[in-house]
Parts: sequence; structure tokens; C-alpha cells
Amino acid sequence: MTQDAREIFEAVIERVKVLDPVNSRSWFNSLALKNFNGGMLEILCPDSQSASFLQDTCVGSFTLAAQQITGHLVTIRFLSDGKIPKGKAAKQTTAEPKLHPDYTFDNFVVGPCNRLAHASCIAVSKSLGTTYNPLFIYGTVGLGKTHLLHAVCRETQSSNPKAKILFLSCEEFVNRFINAIEQGSMAEFKSQYRTVDLLVIDDVQFLQERDQSQEEFFHTFNALYDNRSQIVLSADAAPGEIPSLPERLTSRFKCGLVARIDAPSYETRIAIVQKKARLRGMKVSDDAAEYIAGRVKANIREIEGALTTLYALAGTTGEEISKELAKIALGDDETADKNISITDIIKAVTSYYEVRPADLQSKKRSQSITMPRQICMYLARNLTSHSLEEIGGHLGGRDHTTVMHACGKIAGLQQSNERIQSQLTELTKRITK
Ligand code: ADP
Ligand code: MG
Repeated sequence: MTQDAREIFEAVIERVKVLDPVNSRSWFNSLALKNFNGGMLEILCPDSQSASFLQDTCVGSFTLAAQQITGHLVTIRFLSDGKIPKGKAAKQTTAEPKLHPDYTFDNFVVGPCNRLAHASCIAVSKSLGTTYNPLFIYGTVGLGKTHLLHAVCRETQSSNPKAKILFLSCEEFVNRFINAIEQGSMAEFKSQYRTVDLLVIDDVQFLQERDQSQEEFFHTFNALYDNRSQIVLSADAAPGEIPSLPERLTSRFKCGLVARIDAPSYETRIAIVQKKARLRGMKVSDDAAEYIAGRVKANIREIEGALTTLYALAGTTGEEISKELAKIALGDDETADKNISITDIIKAVTSYYEVRPADLQSKKRSQSITMPRQICMYLARNLTSHSLEEIGGHLGGRDHTTVMHACGKIAGLQQSNERIQSQLTELTKRITK
């Protein structure tokens, strides 16, 4: 491998962190360059889950990053052990459930709110079908049910690689069932579901008012149960409290272990903030973590949202995140009170660079116009909560990839070009004052 290829690869990874703060993780640093030639960049991933995750969710940002770094079109491929993961379109088989690489037992913070659910998930994945069957986990949205279900599958996969695992959302189960009816392939459907060692179905509350699917689910359940296959289910309410599910189904759900997850306490939330921050390679000061934990109570997903904003605000500089920055990320500081609009940003940028608003919105591509236009996009992205589409709309009806491209470019310059850096600082001061 040439020095060049390696440098390009490293620059691509750094750029992706800027372009895609939602999905960037510290384990991106363990991705390796497998090959780069003929416009094809092959990236080696630590395992098939991460390769599959990257292929499904990050291929766009990697492609854009590679295009920005090299100046031409590059095709990205994610590999693990030399294999190419199946894309979104690939039909899911019982062999390889799609699991989120973050959703492991290691990454799950245990507290009084979820101790029983966590312990029973571990017990189940250690010995399928013998401890608690079925295992039914319930709790309101965003408390970690899906996370635990993925972790069960993952743990089973690694301790028992031969186990046939099927992980489905309830909606997928219903859709596949309807498909099978339409295509007259019920026999195949049945045999596929009734021969697995571990069947995991997320959000079974979606079975309500699906009479035919309930019926099939009931039979699948019984067949698996009689086989001593493990069944793990989740729902947003206790079995008996899901409206319009027939008693014969809910009583099946209750016959193993039912574990409730409650909202996490303040201490648990602090630990979750720290855990999530580490996953993203961020350092968060204690008072910032406490601040976020104090603000976000009901749904852990909001913690993820706050960290994503923080990551985008702080950039990839690796500096510790302060409480002040956390306030900004959560919209609690004075600049948020001021409610900065894109118009404020356009005003500041046009007067600073002495260009006209109409120029920014025009198709002109001279450097004296494109740079202020891209800076507008970047500042709008960082200082307002507008979407990429909305920002593009304000700046002459440009599409979201153009805005994303601009943000990546300016973010890159902010780190490498002192002149741009001081211009951005000055502009931010003028806009937020
Ligand atoms: P649910 O399925 O209950 O709606 P999810 O499993 O999707 O919730 O969790 C939402 C987010 O919160 C995920 O990013 C998950 O990793 C995170 N999360 C929830 N509980 C915990 C926990 N105890 N430790 C770490 N992360 C958690
Ligand atoms: Mg869920």
C-alpha cells in the first residue's frame, strides 16, 4: 500500500466524523485500509456487524468524504474477514440477524431500573430455552429494550455460533406473514420460523388488531415453545396491558419471566452519558455529564441526540466537553434564547464578505461567492436547528447533499486554515452577540 493511499484513507475517516456526527464512533479508528485502487476503496471492519452497519447507514457519508478528499468519485466497500456484507436489499435469512454494533451487554449501563431485565437477558443468552422461556421485557419507549434484545442475539452468536437466530421487529414479522399469504408460500414461512433456536421479536404490541398474524404468531409460539426453543419478546406494556390482544396469547407471554424496565435514575443517566460519549470517542467533563443527565429524563434517545449535537459543535478536536457547551447543545444558553435565524446568518456573512444576499442564492460559482455561501451553510448548520434541506432551501434551493458537502469542507478548513478559523470565530461572535 502506498503512503498516499493510507493518508487518503485516514483523511476520509476524519472527514466522515465531521460529515456524519450521528453515526460516528470511536471504533472507526480501528477500521483498516484493505485496498484502494481503480476508484474502489475497500475498508476492513472489525466484524460482520460493524461492516453491515456501515454498509447500511454510512456508505453515503463515506462516499462523500472520499469524493471530497480525492476530488473524484470513489466507490466504498466494507469488508470483514474478506467477506462483503449484505446490503439493505438483501433478503434476511435466519443465519445472520442485523445487529447494531453499539447494542452489546458491555455498552449497557445497569442500574436499579433495568437490573432484572439485564440479568435475565444474560441468563437466557447463556443457556437458550432452559432458564426463562419466554422472556418478556417491557417498558416505555427509549429505555433500552431493543438494545437488550440485540445484545441477547449477539451474545448467543458468539457463545453458540451454530445457533439459528431470528431477530425481527413485530412489524417485519407481520409484513412477512402477509407476503407469505400473498405469494402462497406459507409452508416455507412456517418452517423458517419454527426451526430456530432463538426467536426474538421486538415491539409485540404491534400485534394488536392483527387478527390473522396473531393467530400465526400463536402457532409459531407454541411450536417453538414445545421444541424448547428460546423466545424473547419486548413490548411497551405488560402482557396483560396491551389492548386487544387475546387472553390466550397474553397468558403465553406471561408463562416465563416478565421483566419491566423503568426510567433510569439520575446516577444511571450520568453513567449512560459517559458510556455513550466514550463510544463516540468524546471526553465529557463531569459537570457536563451531570448537566445532560439532569435535563434528559424520560427517554435515553434524547441523550444520544444531545451527544450528537455536542459532537458536531465540538468538532473532532478531542477537547473535553464543558458544561457551557452542553448547555448550548441542549438549547439552554443565551444564543438559543436569541433564536438565531438563517436570515441573521446571511446578513452577517454578506456584510462581512461584502457580497449581496442575491449572490449567495444565485448559481454563481466564483470563489468569492461560493466560500461565503458555504460558510453560511456551515454556520446555519451549527447555530440553528434547521435541517440540511431547509438550509439549502434558504440558499437558492440547493439540495441537502450540497449543504452537507459545504459543511464538511468548511469544517475541514476550520481545522487546517487559520484564516478561515478566525473568520468563523468573528462571524459567530457577530451573529450570537
Ligand atoms: P427501546 O427499544 O426501549 O425504545 P432502545 O433500546 O432503542 O429503546 O434504546 C434507546 C437508546 O438508549 C439506544 O441508543 C440505547 O443504546 C440507549 N440505552 C437505553 N438504555 C440504556 C442503558 N441502560 N445503557 C446504555 N444505553 C442505553
Ligand atoms: Mg425499541
